[in-house]
Amino acid sequence: MTLSRRRFLKDTIAGASLIAAGQLDLVASAADEPKLIPGFSGLIITPKHALYDQARQNYNGRFSLKPASIACCENETDVVKAIEYVREHKIPFVIRSGGHSYEAFSLLDDGMVIDVSNLRSVIVSANKKTATVGSGVRLMQLYEALWDKRVVIPCGSCATVGIAGVTMGGGFGLLGRRMGLTCDNLLALKMVDAGGNIIESNKDKNADLYWALRGGGGGNFGVVTQFTFRLHPINNVTIFRIKWNWSEIVEVVKAWQDWAPAADDRITSILTITSKAAAALKCVGVFIGGEKQAQELIAPLTGAVKPAHVTFSTVPFIEAAKRFSAFKKTKAPGTAVAEPPPEAVHMQVHPRFKNTSDYVRKPLEEEAIRTIIDHLSQSPQESSCVQFDGYGGAINRVPVDETAFCHRGDTKFCIHYQISWAHAKDDAHSLQWINDFRKSMQPFVSGLTYVNYCDRDVQDWAHSCYGENLERLMSIKKKYDPEGLFQFPQSIPLPV
Ligand SMILES: Cc1cc2nc3c(=O)[nH]c(=O)nc-3n(C[C@H](O)[C@H](O)[C@H](O)COP(=O)(O)OP(=O)(O)OC[C@H]3O[C@@H](n4cnc5c(N)ncnc54)[C@H](O)[C@@H]3O)c2cc1C
Repeated sequence: MTLSRRRFLKDTIAGASLIAAGQLDLVASAADEPKLIPGFSGLIITPKHALYDQARQNYNGRFSLKPASIACCENETDVVKAIEYVREHKIPFVIRSGGHSYEAFSLLDDGMVIDVSNLRSVIVSANKKTATVGSGVRLMQLYEALWDKRVVIPCGSCATVGIAGVTMGGGFGLLGRRMGLTCDNLLALKMVDAGGNIIESNKDKNADLYWALRGGGGGNFGVVTQFTFRLHPINNVTIFRIKWNWSEIVEVVKAWQDWAPAADDRITSILTITSKAAAALKCVGVFIGGEKQAQELIAPLTGAVKPAHVTFSTVPFIEAAKRFSAFKKTKAPGTAVAEPPPEAVHMQVHPRFKNTSDYVRKPLEEEAIRTIIDHLSQSPQESSCVQFDGYGGAINRVPVDETAFCHRGDTKFCIHYQISWAHAKDDAHSLQWINDFRKSMQPFVSGLTYVNYCDRDVQDWAHSCYGENLERLMSIKKKYDPEGLFQFPQSIPLPV
């Protein structure tokens, strides 16, 4: 979403869905812009603004929060002014970049949303080794800007996710086992702290903050305005898709979990098991290299359980990134929903959704796999699925205390439970289903969850997101935000 006083509304009719797709251009007439914040140069959207309802919509249509204002920062000075303003007037606030927080932690009722989505510069260094990126950049914009120079930062798969949230929570994507998480490629950042000071942080300067913002999650320490990342050369990659019959779940899960976390680092893969009604069982992945070698390297998996169908395609990386990101259908209620493109990694078919997660460190036994089958057989929505994000490789080699992201070492994969639905009347039973599903898996999993797949219903979420790194995060929170100005329902607590 572009919330800028410079731009004109191009398409008001499709506005709401364009917001979710990150393509909305807004107009602001001078009369619409209350000068709430002295010295603020960007647009401030309040409830009487014609575009307020569009501007307050995040990606997850399950939430309809009503902020008193949305301050759309045009530059770092605006961020400073906004922080000084909320601090002085004791106004509750949250920070928003891409607006993809599963639980809408970048929105609130009544207070102010400090929106950085206009900070969208991408500057590649002359030697193509690093890129400095505004904290409002979205993933596809970033992939495209870097592809021009045949370089990449390993990020997630959805085009419209913001770089800020994805980086600070970790950032798993289909280059990850070779290049690490997004946060593993972060070299430096700039942040506006609770006092309105601009802080630079890297391995030598404010190194504790640099540690915390690689996995400690967004919204906790200050407003990040800029990131500097290490770049990797990239060219063609080979996408593979393996489909099995849904009835072979037990054998496929056993084979995949033996193979995926231990495969050649150049392969990263995701196993998707849909509801019984949709009956899809597939592994989608990327090999950084050509088709012949990809075939050899996936042979242990395809040899263990004979697939119904296997395809390979060697394509420019940017083409692969587009295929993976291409799925969010928000059709009008009652109309048919199109089939996802075969490589789509994210499965939200409907605007309202809930996702949650668990980490697996020991291979799932048959009883656990049967529990998955039972729940997917009784799902109230055909759209429901679990995805296994395969870890290992470069992700796991980073020592657990080197960054705040704690899911390293013997972590095998992240289970990503997902359900989406169209109407509010289906909220209760859809939420009940996914909560029950996750609960019944607890005997079989590690007790840890991914902060970027946040879930308000996880008990003891702080330990489960941060594991053994929690205490250190709390003391860094105290140093940079001693009064707990940066708060949301799952913000890192101050030490008692
Ligand atoms: C469709 C979809 C696909 C996804 N795909 C992937 C994937 O492939 N891999 C993966 O790892 N994750 C993925 N995610 C999860 C994603 O990483 C998180 O939802 C992430 O937090 C979103 O970041 P955002 O900036 O878009 O969201 P926002 O909602 O804007 O922000 C998320 C959190 O960060 C805070 N924040 C935002 N900007 C700043 C800032 N500038 N400074 C400080 N704090 C800030 C917010 O307050 C909020 O708490 C996906 C999510 C969705 C909805």
